[in-house]
Amino acid sequence: MIKARDIHEDCAWQQLTPGGEVYEGGTSKTFKTGDWRVNVPVYIADKCKQCLLCAPYCPDGAIPVKDGKRTDFDFDHCKGCGICAKVCPFKAIEMKKEEEK
Ligand code: SF4
Ligand code: SF4
Repeated sequence: MIKARDIHEDCAWQQLTPGGEVYEGGTSKTFKTGDWRVNVPVYIADKCKQCLLCAPYCPDGAIPVKDGKRTDFDFDHCKGCGICAKVCPFKAIEMKKEEEK
């Protein structure tokens, strides 16, 4: 049976699940949804105080935290919504147009 992530415009109808049911969890982990991005967050490490407020606010889990510190964005999954830039109290994230990055 075809997996949800393998469904694309070239799929034959016979490959779809009965009733179009999805048997996997609703996760973007296996999709590189960062391609949808128009705006992009830029991380300014010098201004970052590692308060970690941005990480739980990101709806896409695209701010990795390692050893208690945030690292640069996961651009495979960041959709450029700008929430992280809005919540950062230290202006350590700036939003730019993708082509200005
Ligand atoms: S909210 Fe701002 S200061 Fe806090 S960890 Fe994120 S980028 Fe750094
Ligand atoms: S721009 Fe949105 S999706 Fe990207 S890291 Fe910030 S909060 Fe997450």
